[in-house]
Amino acid sequence: MTYTLAACVFCRIVAKVDPAQQVWQDERAIVIVPLNPVVPGHVIAIPRRHADDFTGDWLTTSDATHAAFQYARAMGGPFNLITSKGREATQSVFHLHVHLVPRAAGDGLALPWTSAAAELRGAQRQREADVKGLLDIASTYRPESTVRVYLEASAARLNELPLAASPEETQP
Ligand SMILES: [Zn+2]
Repeated sequence: MTYTLAACVFCRIVAKVDPAQQVWQDERAIVIVPLNPVVPGHVIAIPRRHADDFTGDWLTTSDATHAAFQYARAMGGPFNLITSKGREATQSVFHLHVHLVPRAAGDGLALPWTSAAAELRGAQRQREADVKGLLDIASTYRPESTVRVYLEASAARLNELPLAASPEETQP
């Protein structure tokens, strides 16, 4: 597939037809801040040559990953390096780009392949732990104690709540 300059938003940014907050560049690639960074410091490396995705042309893929290599080494710290091929794989701009996402303990970011089923299993495990915690505390009270009755009733109610995966913003 061939893109005209007008059709490809990243070709337009590379050509400086469209504006972007550029934080790094060399002769083969640029690094910009995306419109909606998922965390502060999230950037994307874009090769100057157009390729639809990372399987288009390995030298172009190398241009993008070389930029990511240089940028992440300069910044230091933990990062995810993510790229996608195809709409089903959450690719939304069809000019190869790699996301560099700085990570921190407890940042709450889910990888794009986190599944709803896995989140439900996580919610199930959390509920089991919460119910067990309530029952453990309840067992330290005498059987006729109002605190014990209350805690056991709370555990029973918690068990009856419908499970739901935590609602999280997802972004391509
Ligand atoms: Zn392009």
